[in-house]
Amino acid sequence: MNAAPSLAWDGAPAAEEPVLPMKPETPRAIHLKDYRPPAYLIDKVALDFDLDKTRTRVRSRLSVRPNPDARGKAGALKPVPLRLDGENLELASIALDLKPLGKKDYRLTDSGLTLLKPPSEPFTLEIVTFVDPEANKALSGLYRTNNVYCTQCEAEGFRRITYFLDRPDVLATYTVRIEADPNEAPILLSNGNLLERGVLQGGKRHYAVWRDPFPKPCYLFALVGGDLAPIASSFRTMSGREVALGIYVEHGKEERAAWAMDSLKRAMRWDEQRFGREYDLDVFNIVAVSDFNMGAMENKGLNVFNDRLLLASPETATDTIFEAIEAVIAHEYFHNWTGDRITCRDWFQLCLKEGLTVFRDQEFSADERSATVQRIVDVRQLKTHQFAEDAGPLAHPVRPESYIEINNFYTATVYEKGAEVVRMLQPLLGSEDFRRGMDLYFERHDGEAATVEDFVRCFEDVSGIDLTQFRLWYSQAGTPELVCALRYDKGKKTAELDIEQVLPATPGQPHKKPLHIPVKLGLLSGNGDELALKLDSGETVPDGILPLTKRKHTFRFVDVPSRPVPSLLREFSAPVNVTIDLSDRDVEFLMANDGDLFNRWQAANSFATRTLVDMVSILAQGKSSARGNRYAKALGATIVSDALEPAYRAEVLKLPTQADVARVIGKNVDPALIHRAHRALSRMIGRALGDTLETLYASMAGNGAFSPDAASAGRRALRNAALTLLSARGGKADAARLAKHYADATNMTDRAHALFLLAAEGGPAAERALADFRDTWMHDNVVIDTWFAAQAQSPLAGTLKRVEALTRHPLFALTAPNKVRALIGAFAAGNPVQFNRPDGAGYAFHIDQVLALDRINPQIAARMLGAFRSWRTLETGRRGLARKALQRLARSKDLSSDVHEIVSKILEG
Ligand SMILES: [Zn+2]
Repeated sequence: MNAAPSLAWDGAPAAEEPVLPMKPETPRAIHLKDYRPPAYLIDKVALDFDLDKTRTRVRSRLSVRPNPDARGKAGALKPVPLRLDGENLELASIALDLKPLGKKDYRLTDSGLTLLKPPSEPFTLEIVTFVDPEANKALSGLYRTNNVYCTQCEAEGFRRITYFLDRPDVLATYTVRIEADPNEAPILLSNGNLLERGVLQGGKRHYAVWRDPFPKPCYLFALVGGDLAPIASSFRTMSGREVALGIYVEHGKEERAAWAMDSLKRAMRWDEQRFGREYDLDVFNIVAVSDFNMGAMENKGLNVFNDRLLLASPETATDTIFEAIEAVIAHEYFHNWTGDRITCRDWFQLCLKEGLTVFRDQEFSADERSATVQRIVDVRQLKTHQFAEDAGPLAHPVRPESYIEINNFYTATVYEKGAEVVRMLQPLLGSEDFRRGMDLYFERHDGEAATVEDFVRCFEDVSGIDLTQFRLWYSQAGTPELVCALRYDKGKKTAELDIEQVLPATPGQPHKKPLHIPVKLGLLSGNGDELALKLDSGETVPDGILPLTKRKHTFRFVDVPSRPVPSLLREFSAPVNVTIDLSDRDVEFLMANDGDLFNRWQAANSFATRTLVDMVSILAQGKSSARGNRYAKALGATIVSDALEPAYRAEVLKLPTQADVARVIGKNVDPALIHRAHRALSRMIGRALGDTLETLYASMAGNGAFSPDAASAGRRALRNAALTLLSARGGKADAARLAKHYADATNMTDRAHALFLLAAEGGPAAERALADFRDTWMHDNVVIDTWFAAQAQSPLAGTLKRVEALTRHPLFALTAPNKVRALIGAFAAGNPVQFNRPDGAGYAFHIDQVLALDRINPQIAARMLGAFRSWRTLETGRRGLARKALQRLARSKDLSSDVHEIVSKILEG
């Protein structure tokens, strides 16, 4: 496909700007500072699709007018050429106010169509194009997957359907007519409400007409046509309107959609109760498809989902998938207000819809499940992915200043850090003003394409608090570090807390300004009581929140009767790293006594991390270490406490990942040593706590029917966490327990957990389980991915060979993103020891896959490159081999702009 990016800002191009075909050279970066309003607006769009596998006809009628806001300085409305984006299109005809245009009236390039002299009054443009859905393997625009016609337009897929102003600040109402063969596509769906349907040519063709009354940008357009099974239900909104709900899945999988439907109704109710947001159309449809670049897409009234994130039954889906489905269904639904009703002015504002909507779905999950466990899961995810991104060559601000390919900015920083930035407004403003700010945002910007600036201003206006400094969170990249120290004066009974903000340099941003950071803290007395927080200024600390604004602060607490132990950054009140010199004893004390359960987990997690870091350096000296035993002992006290819910105890039992340890070590990383330390610590815990873990394993066994609810899932999680540590001991009885766990499993949570552990150990029991799993699920396109991933993540020496062989397996296809993620992604991102083989073969293999993928699906190819985001922290040998592999990729001919942008950044940064 043509990788030439077109200039998104065509607001007021100079008339002499060359629009002749240009060969893509170095792809051009687009900058936030260059934003101009569009020169033309499109108010109404009428689309007519004649669906055909290889030659779909698209007739588009656009009501266009010059944009009054794009006038020049003199106020004159000078007619400028109208440039429409278009890619991989066959233009059949173009007419202006019903008059066909000749070749002299417009110019056509690989990236668009320019009308040279459009009228200065409103006009109608009618364009007919042909597209080939079958050949579209980039899965952007209109394509076919598993015999279903489907679209994906975010970010810039609509231009692969028809010529258009493909930018989010052009809002139009859409009427969509779809015609197809009723045998091939009995179901025809688009955005909005169904207006009409009927039969043509004596039943040879049929059609449906959909109308969406809400103006929207074209990235929210969607169309689906295919033979799908509907599951129907309904929802009564808070004002008493009845909404018809529909979920469409592959025939025979209807039962697996029940959880998604249940989650949808809960999400709809929650958004009414928590944010006062009511659904606005008469119907809400969701379609599950097999091949999808992302997880799901929030098209107005017609969400499209990757089937992996929609289909679930106890036999086919793990608890993690059930939770993910609940969260993603909610996320896409919540976009109806934060994304669809209020959209983004330009793609630099992506976090405006994504960060905010992630925050909303996290809050939903916290309310539906355990708030503390949800926070732990979210913080774990943030640290593993976003902190790693922020510490490497791909670091960028939550609102980037420039990009070459916007598809490369659907990142952990925009999503997860973006959510954390919204979250910080709550402690800074208080929850009442936070809600008032949200209300004002909905009221003030409904129907608009807004900016981050618009959003933040709403919170300033309701609270009167100046958020100028807070805005830096959107423009400064990198994870701040809070260097803390606590001094206690026994005579004066005072405690002084120093906090210094250290803001690391990131690519393009060597110097940073101090940020506005809410730090929630507590001080604990020797017997675990919360001490009152009284400052020497006489002020109190409401809710324990200290708002930092300067580079260095010293807080002096008075009337502190004994040496306190600080509990810092409770609830993870800001996305920062905290360093403070606490003894093992203090950390053990926090693990056992902190009244803030999140921080109790945080204490355990940082104790485990520092233990692993110490073990790695001891192993590096060729010595063995018993360092882990102290941690194991501290852990024992926590996990027996019945006062703590099982899901929480399961989180405490999970060790930091090897990638987390590598991130903390930060330089000269040897993944093989980290792997050894990780295994050794698991074994020590298994041995030290054997009896306790065996008791937990027995007592958490399920009795009765499977239920996906949070409490039942928590019991399974704790039992499986115990199984992991018991299996790490490596005894005969342990191996037998693991094999039996696989064989006796009555649900996918237990079965998949055992399969991953078995595959990691290898041997005949592993081969038996893998063969059994393959034979049972080879006809299930979703479940079989677990079989690929379990093999790809095995740390055994033969894994790379096995993964190479699996790329030739009949069930694998580079054209299927889920398969690529399950095999190649799982190997590169989930198997640090084999991906980082000392001979470099893992890197070479991965680059070969990226090259092959880039010819098919550049978005996915670029995403896979993220596996190299921390390559500079590796020890010299591996670093050299990684560089060689990356340079080979960078030198390859005809790279897509997606891959070109990422590989350049990774090598330069
Ligand atoms: Zn989203």
